[in-house]
Amino acid sequence: MGGRAMSGRQLDGLVAVVTGGASGIGAAIATALAGEGAEVAVLDLDPSGADPRFAAFAADVSDRAAVDRAIAGVGERFGRIDILVNNAGIGAQGDIAANDDAEWARVFSINVTGIARVTAAALPWLRKSPSAAICNTSSIAATAGLPQRALYSASKGAVLSLTRAMAADHLREGIRVNAVNPGTADTPWIGRLLASAPDPAAERAALEARQPHGRLVSAAEVAGAVLYLVSPSSGSTTGTYIEVDGGMSPLRLRPA
Ligand code: NAD
Repeated sequence: MGGRAMSGRQLDGLVAVVTGGASGIGAAIATALAGEGAEVAVLDLDPSGADPRFAAFAADVSDRAAVDRAIAGVGERFGRIDILVNNAGIGAQGDIAANDDAEWARVFSINVTGIARVTAAALPWLRKSPSAAICNTSSIAATAGLPQRALYSASKGAVLSLTRAMAADHLREGIRVNAVNPGTADTPWIGRLLASAPDPAAERAALEARQPHGRLVSAAEVAGAVLYLVSPSSGSTTGTYIEVDGGMSPLRLRPA
């Protein structure tokens, strides 16, 4: 009798790859998927902080050879890949003129082409899965028109376009593709931004006050949406996204 039948967990017997899974939102996603029974492989630039329960693979998503090696390693170790969470990403500040060509190329290579590299490497495995699902981490920046985030917003908008295109291309192969758009989430990324302020505690309080629901989004809340989107419960949902932002984007609120 399979573990799925015995315990009733949604992802028993399935293998998930989470990029950027050593920190923040990715770590919360890895924990949520493991909590539903998935075997989790973390693919990260720096996997040293990954939960030791997970198989860790070091790879930069902007390096195709490294990605191919890491996904081959996951295949060798587990013999299958059912779920792929393309979550690794980096930020960029400033208006349209603030970043040079090299920085535009670097951010797109990680945030957008990184998804293409990892997905292309994992596709042969996903095609063999009876319940294949991909979730890409976009951002509120994709839809909200955030000031001083031109490059980052463009990259995350591209993540949504790519999500729809991937969903269309792989629909008939039984691979679902969706995205999650977090608002400002309480992760080491935001911690680093706050740490650079003259008074980090005051800056955090001000940031919380600017959120529609008066607090930062938790990484676990984002992970809950991702868990739904890669689970059989969302088996008829593909090519769309869930906003986990305290209502900012759906309610057309402006970040103050
Ligand atoms: P984080 O910095 O805490 O974690 C990011 C992880 O990705 C790290 O473990 C890092 O090592 C890894 N990573 C970075 N570049 C990589 C690369 N080139 N190859 C492989 N791994 C790489 O950040 P986070 O806040 O958890 O953000 C995760 C995702 O969520 C990102 O895509 C980010 O754009 C998105 N996001 C974050 C927020 C937020 O407020 N924190 C809001 C919206 C969207």
